[in-house]
Amino acid sequence: MLITLAPGVDPARVRHALVALGIWTRTLVAADGRARLLVEPHSAAVDAADVAALDGVESVAVEPSTHPRIDAQAACVDIAGVALGAGAPPVLLAGPCSVESEERMHRLAGRVAAAGGRFLRGGAYKPRTSPYSFQGHGEAALLWLRNAADAHGLRVVTEATAEHEAALVAAHADLVQIGSRNMHNYALLRAVGVTGKPALLKRGMAATIEEWLSAGEYLLVHGAKAVVFCERGLRGFDATTRNVLDVGAIALLAHVHRQPVVADPSHAAGRRDLILPLARAALAAGASGLIVETHDEPGCALSDGPQALPPAELAALLRTAELPRAVPAPEGANEHRARA
Ligand code: PEP
Ligand code: MN
Repeated sequence: MLITLAPGVDPARVRHALVALGIWTRTLVAADGRARLLVEPHSAAVDAADVAALDGVESVAVEPSTHPRIDAQAACVDIAGVALGAGAPPVLLAGPCSVESEERMHRLAGRVAAAGGRFLRGGAYKPRTSPYSFQGHGEAALLWLRNAADAHGLRVVTEATAEHEAALVAAHADLVQIGSRNMHNYALLRAVGVTGKPALLKRGMAATIEEWLSAGEYLLVHGAKAVVFCERGLRGFDATTRNVLDVGAIALLAHVHRQPVVADPSHAAGRRDLILPLARAALAAGASGLIVETHDEPGCALSDGPQALPPAELAALLRTAELPRAVPAPEGANEHRARA
């Protein structure tokens, strides 16, 4: 946002009024002697009309958004009959990291449903760091996942890791997951978008929020029905926790950008003993759901055993939703974030 002052106005006086609104600026003085105030990125989101109404302000220029479709997306979206977002009860999406067998998926689906979960998760195609690690059971796993979910009244969320998988995954899933490693894979975003399915867009482990929102725009522009953002932790320097859950990003997406956002405390923590407290933090910050890994025999899990929550502890996650929730920003506040 660039604020142009009327001729002869003292920038210090206007800056003072702006600070009262939570807006911090840098003063630029043009050759004609006119002062312009450039809004700093750490400023609060405010209505451009409120700034324009300040005494001494001549005009306010807001840069066009690079993600207009995301900005226009409803704060609460419908995913196969489940409301996810502002005003809806928090949604639990749970299941193992990988779809390992038909029997295990049926067992775990029953536990997820009993815990109040609405979506069954599990990777049929796994984006593993090592090519020697388990890569997923592929198409067979999609069928096991779908059948187990249907048998227990659950929806399906599962990942497409490559363009050629998108149509098949979309045919079996209610919500197509884009993994953290693929958030910047624009060809994949396009391929998932054209399926028309809603997408769960995990944040890249080193992605800025603007990059994340723009990745969401790719999905919508190519036809995705909706985008649900998923904060799963950023890469940090300390391996004691696997990643760093960015609770500030959850608050920003939920309350300023008014987007449907869920948290993945499993990949953020990397260890089961921190999942419940991180889930609480995420919900308090404004997350509308939690995607959590669970396994009935974590010691035998084919991937991510240490972070698998025992199914008996799943129900406690939704009880965390009883925490008081933060007050959302006023309608439309995100329109004025063009300073970022
Ligand atoms: C997963 O959900 O199993 C997964 C691989 O997640 P992420 O992309 O967040 O690492
Ligand atoms: Mn995993």
